[in-house]
Amino acid sequence: MILAVASGKGGTGKTTVSVNLASVLGSAVLLLDCDVEEPNDHLFLKGSLIEKEPVSVPIPQVDESLCDGCGECGRFCEYHAIVSFGSTALVFPEMCHGCGGCEKVCPKKAIREIDHRIGVVETVQAGNITLIQGRLDVGVAMAPPLIRAVKAHLKKDLHAILDAPPGTSCPVIAAIRDADFVVLVTEPTPFGLHDLKLAVDMVRELGIPFGVVVNRFGIGDDRVHVFCNEQKIPLLLEIPDDRRIAEAYSRGSLIVDALPEYRELFLSLTEKTMNLKNAKKRKPR
Ligand code: SF4
Ligand code: SF4
Repeated sequence: MILAVASGKGGTGKTTVSVNLASVLGSAVLLLDCDVEEPNDHLFLKGSLIEKEPVSVPIPQVDESLCDGCGECGRFCEYHAIVSFGSTALVFPEMCHGCGGCEKVCPKKAIREIDHRIGVVETVQAGNITLIQGRLDVGVAMAPPLIRAVKAHLKKDLHAILDAPPGTSCPVIAAIRDADFVVLVTEPTPFGLHDLKLAVDMVRELGIPFGVVVNRFGIGDDRVHVFCNEQKIPLLLEIPDDRRIAEAYSRGSLIVDALPEYRELFLSLTEKTMNLKNAKKRKPR
């Protein structure tokens, strides 16, 4: 089962839910940190780095001796990543999505592809958890290909928890699109509700079963609960606004280690997601 943990905005507790869930599973589990601009699951796991692989995307390189500046490549490129300039063409690697189209349309066969590094995928072993995390190079804005490289480590016979980037843009969709179930983490505040609504629209559009975890339960108001009730969205878990949780977080400790009384809470979350996913499977079409 691939269980994705997502949220409409950053700072709601997505990482907390992901790492604690992975920890209580007990058996071997993959934890994929797809928040490649700021991976931080590793801060809560005491493990060792066992592998580090660079990730590249193909970008065009123009042979100036063949190019006549006809501009076909620039007219084709939706991303304005290649433009003809005088008698040649210029490439802007940071805008290129590596689709290979410009190479195909060039009438002079002046374009070939070269590798352009965008980041690394690191593997960390921490007890039962194999953490796979993507880390974008500084100045690179191309998250989806790196997220796909992280997800290439998914294994059919191994449960995976996938910590998605925050928000509802392309990198989030690249991360959660193959998930069996999505846990949406939010806070019971007006901002939390606003971003939750966007996230709900996104997962509904993708057709993935989902439920909600309310973090810092006890602050704010009950509008998130009212919304979930009205929309018939399963409320999977309420994590209380407990000062000891914030202290454990700031020390880089897992809640389930620092406060063992919360183990049951996270275990119940794994059971609920599994049951909801199976119920969805059984539903007649
Ligand atoms: S399509 Fe080919 S020949 Fe034309 S400007 Fe681009 S690289 Fe040069
Ligand atoms: S490979 Fe695709 S995205 Fe990159 S410059 Fe060529 S057409 Fe544009």
